[in-house]
This record gives sequence, C-alpha cells and structure tokens, in this order.
Amino acid sequence: MIDGRTQLVGLIGWPVEHSLSPAMHNAAFAALDLNWRYLPLPVRPRATAEVQAAVHGLLALGFRGANVTVPHKQAVMKHLDEISNTARAIGAVNTIVVQEGRLCGYNTDGDGFVAALREAHFEPAGRQALVVGAGGAARAVVHGLLSSKAEKVTVLNRTLERAQVLVSEMGGHSGRLRALLLTPETLVEAASSPEIGLLVNTTTVGMWPQVDGSIWPESKTLPASLTVFDLVYNPLETHLLQEASISGARAVDGLGMLVMQGALAFVKWTGVQAPLDVMRAACERELRR
Ligand code: NAP
Repeated sequence: MIDGRTQLVGLIGWPVEHSLSPAMHNAAFAALDLNWRYLPLPVRPRATAEVQAAVHGLLALGFRGANVTVPHKQAVMKHLDEISNTARAIGAVNTIVVQEGRLCGYNTDGDGFVAALREAHFEPAGRQALVVGAGGAARAVVHGLLSSKAEKVTVLNRTLERAQVLVSEMGGHSGRLRALLLTPETLVEAASSPEIGLLVNTTTVGMWPQVDGSIWPESKTLPASLTVFDLVYNPLETHLLQEASISGARAVDGLGMLVMQGALAFVKWTGVQAPLDVMRAACERELRR
C-alpha cells in the first residue's frame, strides 16, 4: 500500500516506458516488504532546463534517489553536489542518492558488469579482453575491467576515433588499453590470439528488432576458449551468444549486468541487500510480456 511514509526512487531518462527497472525494483521492494516505490520519470531530451529541474525536483519532492539512463547520464552531472571517482572516470552517472539533503552521483554499471562476469565464473584479474564498441556502456565495461586488474583491454570500434578518445581518456598511458578499428578481419584476428579470454559486445548490434545482427562474421567460428559477454538483453540469447554456444564458448547474457547494476543502486538507496533472484525473475517476466 502507498501511504504517507512511502519512500520514492525513480528512473530519469527518455524514453523510459520500455525499461525493466521499475518492475525489477518494485518486485524487490515487495519481496522485502519495504514501503518503497520506483517510478518512471520521463524527462525530454534536448531540454537542459528540464534535466536540471528533474534533478532538483528529486530533492524538492523528497525522493531518496534515482537511476539515470540515456540520454541524460552525462547531462545530470553538472547539477549534482558530489560525484564519485568511478562516475567521474566513466564520465557518466547512472545512480543518484540523496544523502543528507545532498545529491550524490554514482555509476554502478562497471561494477555491475564485473559482478555479473564473476557470477559467470570469469575472473578478469590478469586476463586479456576485447571490448567491441566505444559508447557509454563500453566506458563502464572498460573501467570495470581495468579496476579489477585485467592485464590488457583492446577496444574495437566502427568509428576508430571514438575508441581512441576512450583510450586516451581512460588510461591510454598505462599501456593496458589500446584502440583498434572494428572490421570482421581485425575482430577475428584479435579474438584468435590465445591470450584473449573475454570478448564483450557493448554495441547495439543484435538488439531487438534487428535480432539477426552480430558483430562476429558468420563464416568464422568463435574460439571455444572464449567467454563471450553480450550486454544486449533483448533478446536474452542474441545471435552472437548462439554462435558462442555452438562453438563451445561460454555465453553470458546482458541481464546479469542489468540486475547487478540495479542491485548496487538498491543497496545505496535502502542500505538493504538486494534480492537478486527476485530481480532477475521480474526482468525475465517483463521481457516475456
Ligand atoms: P551508445 O553510446 O549509443 O554506443 C553504441 C555503440 O554501438 C557505438 O560504439 C557504436 O559505434 C556501436 N554500433 C552501433 N551500431 C553498430 C553497427 N551496426 N556496427 C558496429 N558498431 C555499431 O550506446 P550504449 O549506451 O553504449 O549502449 C550500447 C548497448 O549496451 C545497448 O544495447 C544497451 O542496451 C546495452 N547496455 C546494456 C546494459 C546492461 O546492463 N546489460 C547497460 C548499458 C548498456 P560507433 O561509435 O561507430 O557509432
């Protein structure tokens, strides 16, 4: 029941109507009998004043915090009182927590990715990885891999310049991060190196409704020694993950990361451990709908 004591969090983004987060968090609140609700908070793009009003509105309306999704993950930053080092390094905020009247920004995507990777029994420390894509999600993944001590990360992108910017902003001088133009040939060659343990798709390729798309060329077999992680979760089993399973590689879908980044935000808001199974089941139910 919603009453005068109900605590509110929500999702700032556009569009938000297809997001799985309201179902995921509200199922978690219900399972733990917490008098909290998670609301969709659509904020139009290209309206800077509205982003500021929405962020300050969290304080004015007594919200405990919010998630932030595309296209506002960068735009919210200048309206916050504090930003964590991780969110600053990634260059985006996906979680706002109201702490003693102050708006504090965090990014749980990178840690959520690493937690999902470890749940799939892949420990990134000392391993080499290929990250395909250089957008917002790639930045979180690269940060997660480097901060969990991956030995080397190669970022392959269709637009080489974007990968180069990512590398120079996120530790290009360490020698652990490099950029490469994404072509079928460069990808196959890089993935064929026996030192590569992990291939991560952070592009939108393979996402509904273009479900036949794959970053991996059809005529080639994926090395069986790879763990293949696809950030896309709609569909859950992408064409890339089907190819991975056929070749004997380990396939990891994007829902684990979605649940883990949500769980990390949940703990920051409530101080209570998140019920991961309940959250994953709620997402799967929404995806089936
Ligand atoms: P974004 O910033 O728009 O970046 C998109 C990336 O995809 C860019 O690197 C872009 O390359 C590449 N790309 C798009 N179409 C391509 C094509 N046909 N061939 C090759 N590369 C292509 O998007 P984002 O925010 O990073 O999100 C990317 C994906 O990650 C989405 O599917 C999103 O749903 C998913 N995601 C999942 C989670 C999770 O929790 N599982 C979290 C965050 C994001 P160019 O630079 O060349 O354009």
